[in-house]
Amino acid sequence: MTASTPLTPSVWMQDCTWEEVASYLEHERIVIVPIGATEQHGPAGCLGVDSYVAITLAEDVAQRTGILCTPPIWFGDSSHHAGFPGTISVRTETMTHFVGDVCRSLAKQGFTRIVLLNGHKGSNLPSLISAVRGVHEEEYPGVMFAVADPLHLAKSAAPSIKETNEHHAGELELSHILHRYPGLIRVDRLTNASVDFDEVFGGFVGNDLFGPAPDGVDIMWSGAEQRAFTPTGSFSSSLGTTDAKGKAYHDHIVARLCDLVTWMRGYDGPIGGHGPGEAAEKRRATN
Ligand SMILES: [Zn+2]
Repeated sequence: MTASTPLTPSVWMQDCTWEEVASYLEHERIVIVPIGATEQHGPAGCLGVDSYVAITLAEDVAQRTGILCTPPIWFGDSSHHAGFPGTISVRTETMTHFVGDVCRSLAKQGFTRIVLLNGHKGSNLPSLISAVRGVHEEEYPGVMFAVADPLHLAKSAAPSIKETNEHHAGELELSHILHRYPGLIRVDRLTNASVDFDEVFGGFVGNDLFGPAPDGVDIMWSGAEQRAFTPTGSFSSSLGTTDAKGKAYHDHIVARLCDLVTWMRGYDGPIGGHGPGEAAEKRRATN
């Protein structure tokens, strides 16, 4: 973790002093909060996959755009993976409160552009969105919050990078970690073990996070149920895991996040203008 910004010796806030952060805040107001999980990722993926996803994206974006990241949050909402040793889960409401408090601290100190960068895909999103919606509405309306996730940032690119359906511990997320942290994927333990979603979920849950999905619903499953329907923890084949796929996936998401940082830096807000209809008025005036 040695990457620096033009204003601080490291992109990581935990490696800076308070004086370095104070001088950063004289010139910059944006910060990334990387959020992951510690949970099973099949026989080939380490428990920290989702946290490493958030950390490596945050670090690369921070280095390229010259901004700071907070210390990573290594735990997430993972009770549905708790049937496997090593999974450490935080309840949805705890996560919401915890992330809300982190955001309050940052906002209080003058960070007015806060990017929550999630590596845990859909499972953390409800708590993250509800945390910042409340803080923005009720306490810090002048702070812009964005919740970023590869699930949405790689929507256009993922289908042409992956070769099979992608789900938990699948080829895309393992390729990403293989590319950025080669030693953390057990390449001799990659597997074609996958879940028959139609059989388990009655055709109401799609088997591809980046592909077409049925008209469906969210069905809750417990840690014990997961252990029963996927004894290895792999939801989709990881046999196609490669460094090249990981690079394509990483580079696409980083480029999009750099665009986001540029936009957030330059945006004056508030979203929609200061009063009813102001944004529309402005548009009409300039057209
Ligand atoms: Zn994951």
